[in-house]
Amino acid sequence: MFDKSTWIKLPRNVLVGHGVLDQLGEAVEELYLSGRPLLVTSPSPERIAGDRIRDQFGDIDSISLDRASFEAVERVVEYANEIDAGYLIALGGGKPIDIAKMASDHLNCGFVSVPTAASHDGIVSGRSSIPEGDTRHSVAADPPLAVVADTELLAEAPWELTTAGCADIISNYTAVKDWQLAHRLQNVEYSEYAGALAQMTAELLVESADSIKPGLEESAWIVTKALVSSGVAMSIAGSSRPASGAEHLFSHQLDRLAPGRALHGHQVGVGAIMTEYFHSGERGDWRNIRDALSTMGAPTTAEELGIDEATVIEALTTAHTIRDRYTILGNGVSEEAAIEAATITGVL
Ligand SMILES: [Zn+2]
Repeated sequence: MFDKSTWIKLPRNVLVGHGVLDQLGEAVEELYLSGRPLLVTSPSPERIAGDRIRDQFGDIDSISLDRASFEAVERVVEYANEIDAGYLIALGGGKPIDIAKMASDHLNCGFVSVPTAASHDGIVSGRSSIPEGDTRHSVAADPPLAVVADTELLAEAPWELTTAGCADIISNYTAVKDWQLAHRLQNVEYSEYAGALAQMTAELLVESADSIKPGLEESAWIVTKALVSSGVAMSIAGSSRPASGAEHLFSHQLDRLAPGRALHGHQVGVGAIMTEYFHSGERGDWRNIRDALSTMGAPTTAEELGIDEATVIEALTTAHTIRDRYTILGNGVSEEAAIEAATITGVL
């Protein structure tokens, strides 16, 4: 008997392009939400774009937070309850979006994502993580109801944030390979559609590596569209599998061992070089990954990440313990193998 079913949750309105911030009101109106919005932001995005949002929503309640923490999520939840907010608008880089996503999950309300940096795929997906002590708390929440990504703003973000977003997409390569491996070895459910979309997104981005340059609004356009595709792949899969494999485990482990040292995307990019080596050996595709990253100006070495060699090796040998997600790391990589992989790929 056929008994499969699937529930795909996608953003309803996705606006990407020059000046689309001024269509935020229209994009929200079309969602037929009830209740008043609460703007969740941080000081610099508020300065850059706050007024343009107020022009469209009038005297909107807002809360500005300077770091992502559990306390920040609680403050948003409390404030939203106090004013009886119907939905949240998250304006900023990763932090306000992560906070609003987690708060909206607690509040059981929707949120709209207005990214000011194209630094990781969390701007479109339902995944978020917030540091808590020496670990990170992650949620698999619903994706945003709408995404309004103004390339004019995104192009003004520091360049390393854009290269971090690129690297996060390039890591789909190894994430999909890990997913396929887990499917073959552990019978983990695999979606051909989601896998193909995530992989194609990474390939298209690598092909456009030459046109991704600082100061070009088109770069922000290419990267943001790729982040949207990655988010859609995760929505189709109903998991982060299409965009998160061993390279993400490695990055999560770096977050514990060397918190705040490098950007998420940069860490997963370096992780992908090494896990691609584990997948396909010395003659494998790791060179393509490394070359694409370096063409865009993203880090490809421990030194460029600003993380010492011993920490990189410790992260690589312990990454498999971080969560129950089967990847090429299997039951763990020995220290000798880790050093060899990192050395051959030039990470060390
Ligand atoms: Zn990521």
